[in-house]
Amino acid sequence: MTRHLTQNQEVDDGMRKGYQTEEGTLCFQEQEAGTVTLPSGKRLEVIVHSRSGFTKTEAEKHETAIQMLEEILNSVEFKQRFVAKKFTTTKKTSEAVYRHIMTGAESIGKDTDYEVDIWVEMYHEDNNVVGYTYGSTTKTWVNKKFFSKYDYAGVACNAFHEWLHKLGYDHSSGKDHSSVPYAGGYLVEDMIGEMIKGKKFTPIHSVETVVKPEPSPAPPTQPDSPEQPSIPLPGTVKKTLVCRRLWYTLWLVKSCRYE
Ligand SMILES: [Zn+2]
Repeated sequence: MTRHLTQNQEVDDGMRKGYQTEEGTLCFQEQEAGTVTLPSGKRLEVIVHSRSGFTKTEAEKHETAIQMLEEILNSVEFKQRFVAKKFTTTKKTSEAVYRHIMTGAESIGKDTDYEVDIWVEMYHEDNNVVGYTYGSTTKTWVNKKFFSKYDYAGVACNAFHEWLHKLGYDHSSGKDHSSVPYAGGYLVEDMIGEMIKGKKFTPIHSVETVVKPEPSPAPPTQPDSPEQPSIPLPGTVKKTLVCRRLWYTLWLVKSCRYE
């Protein structure tokens, strides 16, 4: 996979430093590693809350990349490949970073909502900055100059890179290829590239899940009756994974959500 973000790696950082200087904020402190990971059967959802400055075509391209990103993040292979990495810009283990990612807990708000929350704005500037963000905002910015020439893998790579900054992970320079934002972005880029060539990844959750109800007075249990996990508990909600197929250039992708 080509590392076509190399160009922005240099400047992405410089741009954020520019913002940090301007705003006087240095909000890239890492938060404590959560111990929570995805509850059984739950997907990490990637949600774009707003896209400003996008044309209809650009918004569609971005949405497609975002759906691919969601598929990748919810795959067994992503977990395996991510935790096998050694990150140089964090003291956390890669397992702890993975768990943090899967909680969706951004530094601002810190809520474990199992959502990758994105607010993105398009701008155009004839320089080498692909995208940027800074610590005191939930927003990220993407440069039309690069967005227009990137494929889905490149767009998703940049979106994930910027979102990893939102979790508090940083890099000292654009050459920090083993930092969480760069290494995480490259992994997503590589995996989407494989997906486009037809590779199927394994979802981390089952096709069907049973959500446990809020704790309520437990019915009297028969001490010697064996557990029967196949029978849903009273009051459980059955959720079904609903999938649809989406057209891309020469390729179909399945998009699944719980409904
Ligand atoms: Zn960066």
